[in-house]
Amino acid sequence: MTVKDEPGFRDSVDLMFSRAVRLMDLSPGLEQKIRVCNSTYTVRFGVRLRGKIETFTGYRSVHSEHMEPVKGGIRFALSVSQDEVEALAALMTYKCALVETPFGGSKGGLCINPRDWDEHELEQITRRFAYELIKRDLIHPAQNVPAPDMGTGEREMAWIADQYARMNTTDINAKACVTGKPPHAGGIQGRVEATGRGVQFALREFFRHPDDVSRARLAGGLEGKRIIVQGFGNVGYHAAKFLSEEDGALITAIIEHDGALVDPRGLNVEEVKQWVLRQGGVKGFPGATFVAEGSRVLEYECDILIPAAMEGVLHKGNAAAVKAPLIIEAANGPTTFGADEILRQKGCVIIPDLYANAGGVTVSYFEWVKNLSHIRFGRMQRRAEEARSRLLVEELERLSADKGLGWTMARDFKDKFLTGSDELALVRSGLDDTMRTAYQSMREIWRGRDEVEDLRTSAYIVAIDRVAKTYRSKGL
Ligand code: GLU
Repeated sequence: MTVKDEPGFRDSVDLMFSRAVRLMDLSPGLEQKIRVCNSTYTVRFGVRLRGKIETFTGYRSVHSEHMEPVKGGIRFALSVSQDEVEALAALMTYKCALVETPFGGSKGGLCINPRDWDEHELEQITRRFAYELIKRDLIHPAQNVPAPDMGTGEREMAWIADQYARMNTTDINAKACVTGKPPHAGGIQGRVEATGRGVQFALREFFRHPDDVSRARLAGGLEGKRIIVQGFGNVGYHAAKFLSEEDGALITAIIEHDGALVDPRGLNVEEVKQWVLRQGGVKGFPGATFVAEGSRVLEYECDILIPAAMEGVLHKGNAAAVKAPLIIEAANGPTTFGADEILRQKGCVIIPDLYANAGGVTVSYFEWVKNLSHIRFGRMQRRAEEARSRLLVEELERLSADKGLGWTMARDFKDKFLTGSDELALVRSGLDDTMRTAYQSMREIWRGRDEVEDLRTSAYIVAIDRVAKTYRSKGL
């Protein structure tokens, strides 16, 4: 989708990296070590399907092993190429460093249109791809832990986990070989919606800083803000749902592959989702204006634009026309380097991908820890926590009765206070904490150093500095 005179995705990430390191004090050797992609494994394998042998091409790229395991999703899409997985693997390195998940960066992809195959065929293809990676330790609980990405989800992760378990029958940590599994197969509550939830937490944190909000020529909170969401897959859907249902924002447009829906009063996200599930696209959704050339809607008036599909949708060809004063990159690499320059000059604030969509890998980290500890979060503490709260409530009630004070606690308060945290509550709390902390580390540099103009550069500086420290402490 990028225009022709622009660098490719890998080069675009590289240029963003270079912009940040120019403001850092890194030795050229270390800079180069961090910049390069350590290795990319390409596999071509055959699967007998529909009476003939089909050959597929897949990749697993490892950008940086300064920490292991390395982490990053596996994408099933026709766009998959070596350039793409390497760019995405690099972004994983910086993303993990920024949100302090103790992983290096990796990414995988299979060049396939998942819609071309039925479920059984996809299982055969996924297992075969996983087999190729597992036998080379490119899927391994201690070395390389994939997760879902575009075109894959819980189902594929469950197949991969099972494939690994079959090939490593005595590995007690087998389940930790991949994250994003369904909860019944070793997954964790809250992983499916984690990236969308992270986008919501990121925006909430941004809006806690009125100074930052005014840099984007906005004011107030999320309530009533007009949001355009591009891409209505797992990430776009959940972000739109949470922001409209819980923060009072208006989803004024949803851009999908077959066109866009526009409604200045705000779309009902759940109704649109049900429509898309039934009809396969947004076209025909009642009560909203349909725009066939969906990409045009990226240029509509709004307060916040959320590109949540894939790389390169904001490019030199359309950046100048984009009116959103605030962009939050729920996808990886939605803004090319050229578009980033144009948008920055226009005064647009961009909350960058390596921060904005880090909710997924953050909850993946929790899942991996859960798998290694072999116990659900909250199992030991939850009832003890409830018992202590109950003790306090009962004592206050006793005191009130004794002294004839007539205090009564609001029912709602009492219910909430007496409920210990279950796994989902803990996952949300951990994610919220991660998003707040990471924002503050970026913000410190963005607002504290005059030469750092934007959040993306500050995010890269924080991340690269942490990777550099790890390398240095290893003696490099
Ligand atoms: N594919 C997601 C990403 O791009 C998640 C990665 C993970 O959970 O390891 O961040």
